[in-house]
Amino acid sequence: MFKKILIANRGEIALRIQRACRELGVKAVMVYSEADRDAKYVRLAEEAVCIGPAPAGQSYLQMPAIISAAEVSDAEAIHPGYGFLSENADFAERVEQSGFTFIGPTAQSIRIMGDKVSAKQSMIKAGVPCVPGSDGELPDDPAEIRRIAKNIGYPVIIKAAGGGGGRGMRVVHTEAALVNAVQMTKSEAQAAFGNPSVYMEKFLQNPRHIEIQVLADNYKNAVYLGERDCSMQRRHQKVIEEAPAFGIPRRLIEKIGERCAAACKRIGYRGAGTFEFLYENGEFYFIEMNTRVQVEHPVTEMITGIDIVKNQILVAAGEKLPFTQRQIQIRGHAIECRINAEDPYKFFPSPGRITAWHAPGGPGVRVDSHIYSGYFVPPNYDSMIGKIIVHGDTREEALARMRTALLETVVEGIKTNIPLHRELMVDASFCAGGTNIHYLEHWLEQRSGLL
Ligand code: ADP
Repeated sequence: MFKKILIANRGEIALRIQRACRELGVKAVMVYSEADRDAKYVRLAEEAVCIGPAPAGQSYLQMPAIISAAEVSDAEAIHPGYGFLSENADFAERVEQSGFTFIGPTAQSIRIMGDKVSAKQSMIKAGVPCVPGSDGELPDDPAEIRRIAKNIGYPVIIKAAGGGGGRGMRVVHTEAALVNAVQMTKSEAQAAFGNPSVYMEKFLQNPRHIEIQVLADNYKNAVYLGERDCSMQRRHQKVIEEAPAFGIPRRLIEKIGERCAAACKRIGYRGAGTFEFLYENGEFYFIEMNTRVQVEHPVTEMITGIDIVKNQILVAAGEKLPFTQRQIQIRGHAIECRINAEDPYKFFPSPGRITAWHAPGGPGVRVDSHIYSGYFVPPNYDSMIGKIIVHGDTREEALARMRTALLETVVEGIKTNIPLHRELMVDASFCAGGTNIHYLEHWLEQRSGLL
């Protein structure tokens, strides 16, 4: 086992990984920017290294600063968390070349999955069902592009191979708009991602976002830890996640889960990962793989009792997965609400000083957050300040617990989206279960009409 790990991240996930290290008896080195000097996990750390000024480009994204911090602190491994450098293949490579272990998959796996065209091709080879679409990158010839779209059937979506964060996509409904849309997506993709390559998929009208969590070790053992439903999204950003997904037959989940685990073995994947799918009319369609721990991992931890972060560290240290697929049992239902420092109606960010914070509690309630009374939410980073996660025997019990938890939660001094979550937890359609990826946007449109 490692003696010391450097955590190359901030906020709630830095604290989450620090907790896992403490439980494993591994020393954790925290890094922080000047804006995060007062973070509690920094204050309570055995060791912490300042890596630069507030802007992420000068601190959390600075590979040399992070690698030097690992060198001066004698860490053996680096956990990248999510966001920042977590899916940067060059970083994974530099970490390993500098003699540290990267807690995650190989640079090669990250590279393949980071390009959506190559990710899709490798999934097709591994027998994972994908959205029907072009065979890889779109050609330049307009006639050929029209032919491909006609075969797929309108509407289609043009997507950048290098895209991410919900950017670099365009839906096309008619042949007349097609060639121009391809050209525009290409130039945007070049400008935003430095890669003009685009591909085409059938645009699914009312899918749900269902994802499969996997864990794999270095010895070709791979398991899936059930699914999560992350359909409640605003601008392609997840707002509420839950597990299991309401109303999807277990045998379908098992079938797709087994495919994902088999794909991991086939591509030599190691560590934690997530296969994201769109689910419509009983079918799963792969859209992308995330090669890191995800924000919503706690809902899976709550229903399986498996600590995903500790297992990431264990397999990176060369241990075998401590369980087989048969030993993984799903129990009850879990829901997560992402708490953002933002206006609950207009969604503009609301950084600043938190004057009062009361966390919820009680049976089945978990809070993953680094905030405290007196904490200053810096304006430099993502607005998420924590997550409330609940577990119950049934979905109804989980919903009731979330309502209670949200009622108990007090955050003063800044605005948060807690009022939004309170409204959604009593919304009839959400409570009934199975809402699709457009539901929240439509609901918000209606709400703003009523305001
Ligand atoms: P990103 O990496 O930018 O998040 P994804 O490929 O995961 O891109 O897609 C993000 C979101 O875009 C999906 O969750 C879904 O809402 C929408 N989307 C992507 N592909 C399709 C498709 N073929 N049909 C319908 N919606 C899609």
